[in-house]
Amino acid sequence: MSRAKRIIICGGGAIGVAIAYFLSRRGAAPIVIERHKVAGSASGKSGGFLAFDWCRGSPLDRLARRSFALHAELADTLGNPWGYRRLETYGGYAVENDAARGPGERPWLSEGVTITGRLGSPQTTALVEPRAFTTGLMAAAEKHGGAQRHGAVIDLVRDKSGAARGVALEDGETVEGDAVVIAMGPWSILAARWLPLPAVYGYKGHSLIFQTGEAIPAEALFLEYQESSGEVLTPELFPRADGTTWVCAVSSTEPLPIDPARVTPDEGAHARLEAMCRTISPALATAPIAARQACFRPVTEDGLPLIGPVPGVNGAYIATGHSVWGMLNAPATGEAMAELILDGTARHVDLAPFAAGRLRALDPVRLRTA
Ligand SMILES: Cc1cc2nc3c(=O)[nH]c(=O)nc-3n(C[C@H](O)[C@H](O)[C@H](O)COP(=O)(O)OP(=O)(O)OC[C@H]3O[C@@H](n4cnc5c(N)ncnc54)[C@H](O)[C@@H]3O)c2cc1C
Repeated sequence: MSRAKRIIICGGGAIGVAIAYFLSRRGAAPIVIERHKVAGSASGKSGGFLAFDWCRGSPLDRLARRSFALHAELADTLGNPWGYRRLETYGGYAVENDAARGPGERPWLSEGVTITGRLGSPQTTALVEPRAFTTGLMAAAEKHGGAQRHGAVIDLVRDKSGAARGVALEDGETVEGDAVVIAMGPWSILAARWLPLPAVYGYKGHSLIFQTGEAIPAEALFLEYQESSGEVLTPELFPRADGTTWVCAVSSTEPLPIDPARVTPDEGAHARLEAMCRTISPALATAPIAARQACFRPVTEDGLPLIGPVPGVNGAYIATGHSVWGMLNAPATGEAMAELILDGTARHVDLAPFAAGRLRALDPVRLRTA
């Protein structure tokens, strides 16, 4: 009997663990190497909002539709410990100075919030609690022969032919395998020192989690909110199955720390977000805050992810740059990567639009000396 293929996955975010899960279901032996903690970055702190057809007209459309279907399947197959739920989705606006604070037509929203339309229905929009989703998929991968290990990946190990055969860790150890996948979210840019890869940037976002109990129904909300300064924020409010409501709004381009454990919020960002929440919703105005969070989403130059082989290096793959749709697109990315690595081609989605070679690679020599 041939031995199971050992695939090293650098990064324990939703993308890395989804790849591990689908590889493990195919009989391979994935090992996720994580520097901080599984779901410790954006994949544990994001909104977890899923939409079936919001990528229509973009090369992401097929990936998103496939992934939306896989989310429902995964929740069903794995017992849904991450609160997967279908929900209504609305759009609207509010102006800080005009936002009367008493309850409006929807009692959980202030009178001054105007709903302009329905953006999605339970057939087309859904939600997961992202940390439970990511750790739940990791646990499922481990049940099927996958493994996780703590460590900071600092280099690639190659064989004599130049093919990827493992990674070097900061503690001096090396981990060997048949293939290596870079899935370190915005930290994937570090791999451009060892591999011909284009840039991946990190965009920071802040969020609050309120303990709202039953006060907010299963209705997601995308708002435009004008502060008294004239600045417009675009908050998103997602009521989760676990009785919490997640809200985000304030973004920035602060630099990404090399160590994922050192991501901190920008000064004043949470206070600004909290003030807005208290204005737009009587339910949020009285709810205790369970968490104040900041995280970076991975973004490429053209806004599309990098999913596929690393050009010119056998055994090396990349899956990152999913920007605002990483939770949605994790399952279809995991499935496609497992097919690509084990069968040589992805069957369910066409990965051509996401090929790493479409963007100019950074110069590794300049990066190593920077
Ligand atoms: C505020 C906000 C809200 C969002 N809301 C949504 C949403 O509603 N729906 C949606 O679909 N998407 C959403 N997203 C996007 C989504 O969260 C991301 O696209 C997704 O989490 C990216 O997953 P990832 O696995 O690529 O990266 P990450 O989650 O960043 O994981 C990368 C992992 O790599 C690890 N790592 C870093 N360096 C090393 C190293 N040297 N060695 C080993 N490991 C390393 C990190 O510790 C981290 O755990 C949101 C993002 C933000 C910021």
